Amino acid sequence: MLPFKLIYHERYDLNLGEHVFPSQKYRLIRDALLAEGIASPSDFIAPEPAADADVERVHSHEYVHKLKTGHLSYAEKLRMEIPYSQEMIEACWLAAGGSILAGRSALADGWAANIGGGFHHAYPDHGEGFCVIHDVAIAIRRLQFERLIAQAMVVDTDVHHGNGTAEIFGGDPSVFTFSIHQENNYPYPKPPSTIDVNLPDGVGDDDYLAILEKNLFHAFDEFQPGLVFYVAGADPYREDQLGGLALTIEGLKRRDALVVDYARRHGVPLAIALAGGYARNVNDTVRIHIDTILAARDAAQAKLPAGKP
Ligand SMILES: [Zn+2]
Repeated sequence: MLPFKLIYHERYDLNLGEHVFPSQKYRLIRDALLAEGIASPSDFIAPEPAADADVERVHSHEYVHKLKTGHLSYAEKLRMEIPYSQEMIEACWLAAGGSILAGRSALADGWAANIGGGFHHAYPDHGEGFCVIHDVAIAIRRLQFERLIAQAMVVDTDVHHGNGTAEIFGGDPSVFTFSIHQENNYPYPKPPSTIDVNLPDGVGDDDYLAILEKNLFHAFDEFQPGLVFYVAGADPYREDQLGGLALTIEGLKRRDALVVDYARRHGVPLAIALAGGYARNVNDTVRIHIDTILAARDAAQAKLPAGKP
């Protein structure tokens, strides 16, 4: 039914119990996509967990060992801000496998979406801010390793700065990192991305979209990626509990349309990862993520297919 694949695994849920991170959102999104007739069961493909060798292209062997054996210190667990469990670790490895598969599918079909992932706060040697391992970086490194891509771009519109992404790819000219976020919000410090757009509190739809467009223009003017990873956080939404911007659901739709259209017009395959979303009503978070899938569908069905400018 959809012109590209959706990557999903029933064990994406991070098993967090009562937590501001609604990790049941992955299942809710899948169920709604099916119930609303947007997707059919055959549009979904399930990933394998990432191989440790893939994870260790980004993360230190010591950190990976500690994650898998549970030998993290109290301080390390606290910094993740989510409870440690074997199910949580399994979900993180599946999300990373999902982003690898999304990247691979986007290269084949022009578009793909991981109904998970976007854990952009994970660093090579530690996790923080609900992020344990950096699925998008792991995917980019795997695809580069296979020589399926030389260069990649990360477009991160989560309300929080993509600090892990910036740290991992800092100094690497093969990966262009773009982050548009609320300046006065976690994380501190914010290591430099290739382009950082620091927004003041309370920015609304029109100002946001104008600034985003100007900076996307510069990014695509400067750099020719073989693949774009779109880290499409739902948390710039005005009803978000952890964000301080003021975008509406309609404004977020226009944001998605802008990003996917830049990729389409430049003939670059695009893979989506979901990232954050902490709306007071979880149904709003689900709606915003579904709208991102629909923006990609609309772009895929536009005159010019991705990969053929
Ligand atoms: Zn966020």
